Amino acid sequence: MKQTAKKLPKALKPAPKVGVVSLGCPKALVDSERIITKLRSEGYELSGSYEGADVVIVNTCGFLESAQKESLDTIGEAMAANGKVIVTGCMGAEPEKIRAVHPKVHAVTGPHQYESVIEAVHDIVAPVHEPFIDLVPEAGLKLTPRHYAYLKISEGCNNRCTFCIIPKLRGDLVSRPAAHIMYEAENLVKAGVKELLVISQDTSAYGLDIKYAESQFKGKKIKAKFFDLAEALGTLGIWVRMHYVYPYPHVDDAIKLMAEGKILPYLDIPFQHAAPNVLKNMKRPAMQAKTLDRIKAWRDICPELTIRSSFIVGFPGETEEDFQFLLDWLVEAQIDRVGCFKYEPVDGATSEDLGLPEVPQDVKDDRWTRLMAVQQEISLKRMMTKIGKTIPVIIDEVDGEGGANGRSQGDAPEIDGAVYLRDVPAEIKAGDIIPVLVEDADEYDLYGAPA
Ligand code: SF4
Repeated sequence: MKQTAKKLPKALKPAPKVGVVSLGCPKALVDSERIITKLRSEGYELSGSYEGADVVIVNTCGFLESAQKESLDTIGEAMAANGKVIVTGCMGAEPEKIRAVHPKVHAVTGPHQYESVIEAVHDIVAPVHEPFIDLVPEAGLKLTPRHYAYLKISEGCNNRCTFCIIPKLRGDLVSRPAAHIMYEAENLVKAGVKELLVISQDTSAYGLDIKYAESQFKGKKIKAKFFDLAEALGTLGIWVRMHYVYPYPHVDDAIKLMAEGKILPYLDIPFQHAAPNVLKNMKRPAMQAKTLDRIKAWRDICPELTIRSSFIVGFPGETEEDFQFLLDWLVEAQIDRVGCFKYEPVDGATSEDLGLPEVPQDVKDDRWTRLMAVQQEISLKRMMTKIGKTIPVIIDEVDGEGGANGRSQGDAPEIDGAVYLRDVPAEIKAGDIIPVLVEDADEYDLYGAPA
């Protein structure tokens, strides 16, 4: 019998490789995830090194001078090691600044210009089309571990805080329809996500630009409004954590959802200061003298509430009296988690045009140290109250020898503390939520064992 030669499949062309460096905040991370998802869907692979990549994308942060410097240094590193570099992100809104230092970067695009980034990648190395290979999981690709994910609900900001250039870089508030967010959230949950971190520049202003328009999710209309979205996300059966919330009056309603266990009893509110004239000079939104009363009322409704905040010391014109006001306010407010920054002038920020006296660097340093010392005492006291309680903990990592670390409902990934565990059964894995008896505590972390 005559044998016919079998037709061998054409060898697949090697996939082009892209290196991605993501700097800056979680919002920038979400942008990087979108770019990666699109590139992977087109057949590109990710490279873990500059040298192994056909092209490198640097997603920059332009928030502070120091972040801009880090961005420029990273671009320099990528240029030296690879040479084919595309710059995007916040600093990409000021291409002159980048080109002044690195004139040979291939392309510079601003924040959220995903399509321009993809085009610039095509320009350097064309995609390999393999239509029968499904490259992208249903929920897209994430840079966070599988069990938690950031959920971006809007871009831009309508506020004009004088120290901040984000509205200049990213424009005014643009909210996503509630149904889009819910479908994305549902896909993430289907893909195994157990905790969603809701982010934007001003989460409580969500929907203002689209007049809180309703959209349909699974036959139900949902308003594009902070409370309505929080309530809808609360039905997904996972942890939902709210970041970048300002204390507008309607936030009070969301505290009830926290007390009912629908969303996590956690609020990330960047207060930045407490002294009225500093807040006025900063032009902070929703700041009122009654904030302390509000915090007390929130804790009455939801005693488990953890409040995280950030503060700036050394803002122009901040007097010793203002700073002391802030320290007293902190003691009174008993904020659980605090990040503190020393004010840095940022090119383009209006704080520099206010004509206020600069605070000398040594005074800034001293105020930073004093604030952190006061805060550590507060944090320690609040953490100690958890000893002896049984609390739910989401597992982030297990070491295979009975040790694990995870987070309580009061700990956001990356920025807050951890719960260190002993005697963890072998079947427990990352993403599991288990009851833990807290045995010890320090200023940042808890220690315990499965209950
Ligand atoms: S709320 Fe203020 S600090 Fe935050 S992004 Fe908007 S302008 Fe900047």
